[in-house]
Amino acid sequence: MDAIVQKLALSAKDNSRPTQEEAEDAVRVLLRWAGEDTSREGLLDTPRRVAKAYRELFSGYDQDAADVLGRTFEEVAGYDDMVLVRNIPFHSHCEHHMVPIIGTASVGYLPDGRVLGLSKIARTVDIYARRLQTQESMTSQIANAIQDALDPKGVAVFVEAEHMCMSMRGIQKQGSTTLTTTFTGAFKEDASLQARFMTMARSGK
Ligand SMILES: [Zn+2]
Repeated sequence: MDAIVQKLALSAKDNSRPTQEEAEDAVRVLLRWAGEDTSREGLLDTPRRVAKAYRELFSGYDQDAADVLGRTFEEVAGYDDMVLVRNIPFHSHCEHHMVPIIGTASVGYLPDGRVLGLSKIARTVDIYARRLQTQESMTSQIANAIQDALDPKGVAVFVEAEHMCMSMRGIQKQGSTTLTTTFTGAFKEDASLQARFMTMARSGK
């Protein structure tokens, strides 16, 4: 898609969005702020590439987890134990510095007669990861989206991630990870269920 077509597609979708040209100008300003010469050959196409990359890295704003999770669920005769999708990799960006957060999410739930397609859980993680985030918000957004869509007996989400804003700048603590959890329903009430989820989520780590 060339730039003009893309610009039209974007403005048709959301009038409040700046144009591609405005986004590219903003990238040039930041490059100059960093000390670069935006006219040098290697950087000529960079603003266009960055604007395009932003559309992909932040595509979660255009998606609604409720649509992905949908309203069609599989009936499972008799299966009433935990379903756990472990170590779903994600890339996000912190809302304070706009630098990457790289980690994994493990998502479990206790069905109440119905289950989700497993790929929908990974897609839900992606939708929230592809926005500016704090790890705490992202963890609870994933849990709440699944709780609301499926209405299971409970949802458990465990996220482990490295924040590049801690590794590359500020206190520069490479390799340290942050762990967050959110529990709803039965997982909130039953400590042994939480413990079982955490053991399953962390086994093999
Ligand atoms: Zn940060």
